[in-house]
Amino acid sequence: MAAIYNFNPGPSVLPKVVYEKAAQAVLNYNNTGLSVLELGHRGKEFQAVIDGAMQDLRDLMKIPDDYAVLFLGGGASLQFSMVPMNLLPEGETADYTDTGTWAAKALKDAKLYGNVNVACSSKETTYNHIPKNLKLTAGAKYLHVTSNNTIYGTQWKEFPKYDGLMVADMSSDILSRPVDVSKFGLIYAGAQKNMGPAGAVVVIVRKDLVGKSGRKLPDMLNYEMHIKEGSMLNTPPVFPVYVISEVLKWLKGIGGVEAIQVINERKAGKLYKAIDDSKMYKGTVAKEDRSLMNVCFVIGDEIKEKKFIDEAKKAGLVNLAGHRSVGGFRASIYNAMPEEGVDALIAFMKEFEAKNS
Ligand SMILES: *Cc1c(COP(=O)(O)O)cnc(C)c1O
Repeated sequence: MAAIYNFNPGPSVLPKVVYEKAAQAVLNYNNTGLSVLELGHRGKEFQAVIDGAMQDLRDLMKIPDDYAVLFLGGGASLQFSMVPMNLLPEGETADYTDTGTWAAKALKDAKLYGNVNVACSSKETTYNHIPKNLKLTAGAKYLHVTSNNTIYGTQWKEFPKYDGLMVADMSSDILSRPVDVSKFGLIYAGAQKNMGPAGAVVVIVRKDLVGKSGRKLPDMLNYEMHIKEGSMLNTPPVFPVYVISEVLKWLKGIGGVEAIQVINERKAGKLYKAIDDSKMYKGTVAKEDRSLMNVCFVIGDEIKEKKFIDEAKKAGLVNLAGHRSVGGFRASIYNAMPEEGVDALIAFMKEFEAKNS
């Protein structure tokens, strides 16, 4: 069978070696005769998996010791409410940047818990850029940013210079480039873009920030309790954590975030160049804010766009349709998308343009 390259925005492609390891682990984990799916979460085998994953994430992201690492359920979306529940006391204000659909959902949930100031918004222009003039609130508890806007294909290249506490949703670009964790009070990321299977979210939180909201919280929504129990307050998402642990080993093995950043810049760079060099394709966002993870472009002719999607699929290039709110195409080229996949897409785009213009 010819190679299939999957450009899905999430869940998305993971490294092939991880699929192979996971398949084997489902049948017989580490020669225990047991499937990874039936390992007790409090047994020594799984403890080693979660400890290893936490340590590898710490190493890869250089997470300082005063931060806790948690693997929780509920996806990134549950963090939209958990963050304000835990970090925004009644009557206080948080600043939110409105740079896309996910950012808007985060700020909508935060309004349930306190005052939300929209520090900037690019909604009026269909989120086609990252607004950089922020209107901040004096005394705000934190500033929330979405590091990469998965649907629109924009990315903060540099985070806002901010003296207070920054909170970031890094779901779609975590581990794609080095980040100074100490600049953030809390980072969260759903696993299914750059890290593993859907259903788990990684939370990296400075330990002194938790337990101070003054709210009565159910244990499951309380970071303090999750930290106290070493991310095992209840049964953690065992299989996603196992797969994440293997993705982290893979990333370490190829040289970590510094190495993958070089590859990501090369992959995105050649795809954007192909778009800019062509007469048929147009990028949809401000050049300086272009995402290295989600490359959005259009032809601007619905019939040709449909034809492109159909023919690309036949060529093994799948899930390239843009989000329904943008149309056109979105090529999600996360860490695990092989460079050959990007090369194949570029070759296909050139051929399609030659035949159809
Ligand atoms: C995908 C995504 C989410 C939602 O993740 P779930 O795990 O489905 O809740 C949130 N934020 C960003 C930036 C995303 O890309």
